[in-house]
Amino acid sequence: MNTFMKLLIAEMGQDQTKQQIEKGLRLYQCNKTDKALQVWAKVLEKTSDPGGKFRVLGCLITAHSEMGKYKEMLKYALAQIDTAREMEDPDYLTEGYLNLARSNEKLCDFQKTISYCKTCLNMQGTTVSLQLNGQVCLSMGNAFLGLSIFQKALESYEKALRYAHNNDDKMLECRVCCSLGNFYIQLKDYEKALFFPCKAAELVNDYGKGWSLKYRAMSQYHMAVAYRKLERLPDAMECCEVLLRFPQSEGCLPMESMKIALQHGDRPLQALCLLNFADIHRCRNDIEKAFPRYESSMCIMTEIGNRLGQASVYLGVGKGWLQQKELDKALESLQRVQDLAEGVGNKLFSLKVHCLSERIYRSQKREDELREQVVKFLQCVEELELYCGMCGESIGEKNQQLQALPCSHIFHLKCLQSSGPRDCAKCRRASLKPGFV
Ligand SMILES: [Zn+2]
Ligand SMILES: [Zn+2]
Repeated sequence: MNTFMKLLIAEMGQDQTKQQIEKGLRLYQCNKTDKALQVWAKVLEKTSDPGGKFRVLGCLITAHSEMGKYKEMLKYALAQIDTAREMEDPDYLTEGYLNLARSNEKLCDFQKTISYCKTCLNMQGTTVSLQLNGQVCLSMGNAFLGLSIFQKALESYEKALRYAHNNDDKMLECRVCCSLGNFYIQLKDYEKALFFPCKAAELVNDYGKGWSLKYRAMSQYHMAVAYRKLERLPDAMECCEVLLRFPQSEGCLPMESMKIALQHGDRPLQALCLLNFADIHRCRNDIEKAFPRYESSMCIMTEIGNRLGQASVYLGVGKGWLQQKELDKALESLQRVQDLAEGVGNKLFSLKVHCLSERIYRSQKREDELREQVVKFLQCVEELELYCGMCGESIGEKNQQLQALPCSHIFHLKCLQSSGPRDCAKCRRASLKPGFV
């Protein structure tokens, strides 16, 4: 059970409603999710106490989020806002908007996520805002990352981390570390991409006895991705052994997080694990094993409405066809990635599509198409500002160590080290004095 739900309970006023919500939570903890949902639905139907109604909606939101039923999650979040408005309570309203932001984040509606997060941050001075601000910043960071706005994503994650430290909120810190792992995977600093989920796993080990298993599985999953990128499978398994104390066999690393995911009906994580599994097989040139796993992953991604997840699957499939020299099929998959990326507003996927399409058209000597892809590729690089402000070379093209300044602009670590302390080359803010005008 997460602290969020514990808070819900602590604040319950009306006994009857409270008892029923608690009954649902007990069922939920024993993995009797369907029964828990029935109990909560009944409370929602019967209770006349707006506080109780708000709380039971909170339970329904968390449960549906964990199951990957994001459209239902959004529906309950909207109902929560209505209830909060009725009560004219800014604390409830802030919490409602956070849930609305999160629902939209899960549905890859990132512009909406950012705007609801801003609404939350603007309602400062409410009692709960200090506890929730960190979560708001995390959600905002995830949304910026979804839009490939890297500097703002990093800025939000850093704020979220600061709130986590100030409130001694280890669970939030763990979640931010996982997001930072994803951030550095995208920018291809694989050392940091591994460091952060390892840190998250450490937090789970040190503080997570009473936490949902989801946190362990999440850190495990992000470590698995980083190890795959680093092509360090034996290390991955050794680390797994220490963390999970399960007997190991080859290829079981993503299996373990998948087992946990399966146990708890965590469809979103299950889909990601299947995808990582498929990618590992593809990296080993075992396309026969990769494709069915891509397919299973795609089924779940589609079902839950994770469009970025779908784009990742199609990208993997495209690369698989490319390995098989099936260029037309590869192009077809890449087109789907491009459609999804445009729909969501994710520039990094577009960039990858143009880069791969360029390679294909070049080999086919299709000059017109090739030229178009080159132009689009360069546009993406420009828009994403994926270059180091010091040496002018690209960032995120290959595995390289990166470092951010206090303004959250990102450079090659080696360029910062060789130049010593100076103003940020991108925004001209002094790297040592954040308040410099
Ligand atoms: Zn550089
Ligand atoms: Zn800067």
